[in-house]
Amino acid sequence: MTSISEPTAATSSPDWNMIQEDILCPLCEYDLRMLTEPRCPECGYRFDWPDVLDPSRRLHRYLFEHHPERNWWSFWKTALGGLRPRKFWASLQPAQPSSVKRLILYWGLIVGVMLFGLGGQFGRAVINTQKDFVAYRATSAAYFKSASQWKTTVLAQHGSIQAYLDSQYPEPPDIRFFLIVLFYDDFFRTFLPFLVSYLLWPWLTILALLVFRWSMRSARVKTVHVIRCVIYSFDIGIWIGLTVLVATGAVYVATSSAVLILPLQPGLAVLCLLMGGHAVYRLWIAYRKYLKFSHPFLTILASQGMVFLFLLWLILEWHLRGRTLI
Ligand SMILES: [Zn+2]
Repeated sequence: MTSISEPTAATSSPDWNMIQEDILCPLCEYDLRMLTEPRCPECGYRFDWPDVLDPSRRLHRYLFEHHPERNWWSFWKTALGGLRPRKFWASLQPAQPSSVKRLILYWGLIVGVMLFGLGGQFGRAVINTQKDFVAYRATSAAYFKSASQWKTTVLAQHGSIQAYLDSQYPEPPDIRFFLIVLFYDDFFRTFLPFLVSYLLWPWLTILALLVFRWSMRSARVKTVHVIRCVIYSFDIGIWIGLTVLVATGAVYVATSSAVLILPLQPGLAVLCLLMGGHAVYRLWIAYRKYLKFSHPFLTILASQGMVFLFLLWLILEWHLRGRTLI
């Protein structure tokens, strides 16, 4: 059973008599004690002995998971580091402890920064919608007085003109007003499907990858490693949110209206597609360099195919039925 490979610094087998602590496979937690070859017999993961044995290698220099004492700093360092996936995934090893809690917190911060970036546009949409609704309410109220037949219908269905206006053109702080803004405003109507898709994308990808995991030898790879690969690859919402923030600010300064004029909206859509492509590329690099899967490209391609079809179905449903809900 023992296969002796050429000993080098990375592959020479450890002196197990000198090692007291449990040494487990970083990916599947199989007990590696007494093994000579740096390859897990359970999940097939190949590693270098020093990465697994040396405690000083377990702390990443800036990774968000490892530096709760400097959250803001490690958040931005991790976000920037991930933009260079080859370097990033070469610096991170499965033997370095992982934390689902910190990964979910990282995702929460990404969404927070993105929504902060969209905040200016939402504020503009709220102001514009409210302006229009005030005008519509006035027109409807005037028409109510002049059209007696319509007056009868409104009173029969709503009880009063006020109840009718509140149902058709709600005002803040009515939650329906804010929901209507998302469907009424051009910008949000265009980008809401992208936004919702983005929020679902990493979790659908994780599900798809877990399905593939069953059919492969890597079935015992712990879920946290899949989550880690996906979350760090899909943090692009930060950059999209910040781009919208800068564009909104620049347009506001130039035109004092903050409406993202025509060339900017298609530009933003192209940016979303490019960044989405980069995220998939990053995930492929993560599967190749970090998990060291044997068919990383096909695995990622298949998972993204599944997620894409699901999201496409969701967006079509949205257009066919979703809008009629409001
Ligand atoms: Zn293993």
